[in-house]
Amino acid sequence: MDNLWSPWRSSYITSSEHRLADGCFLCAASRSDVDRQGALVVASFPSTIVVLNRYPYNAGHMLIAPRDHVGNLAEIPAHVSHEIMDVTQKALRVLERELHPHGVNVGANLGSAAGAGVPGHLHIHLVPRWNGDTNFMPVIGEVKVVSEQIEEMWARFTEAFSNVAST
Ligand SMILES: [Zn+2]
Repeated sequence: MDNLWSPWRSSYITSSEHRLADGCFLCAASRSDVDRQGALVVASFPSTIVVLNRYPYNAGHMLIAPRDHVGNLAEIPAHVSHEIMDVTQKALRVLERELHPHGVNVGANLGSAAGAGVPGHLHIHLVPRWNGDTNFMPVIGEVKVVSEQIEEMWARFTEAFSNVAST
């Protein structure tokens, strides 16, 4: 799919969730006293959090981010980068278990020129994919996802992460 990453540059996304007046939504989600459901946090680890994308490109679209507000993948400490990969593996197991995707896009937009909505805070996108989903994805992406679907996914993924984390 040619334009896989382009939806994350949309003005709809950058003008809302990713542009909180009081700062970075990933930093807010990383706080220990965060409203996990409100912030869509499905799992948290010593240096890393996992949140559902509020404007998913496909059902189950997750973001994996370091707790610290760092944007440069090349400069994050080794133990954090290792944890990000470990958590990415856990997240892939959650997707397999809950949604049985045919494939998953794993990737990051580094810098505004690459399409990052929040260039200052690194985040890895995990987008589950199904054969033939390219035609309906633009329809279900972004604005069409209703809050009940997100809340149901939040509950399912929160439960699933607690199970895969202990295996
Ligand atoms: Zn941040």
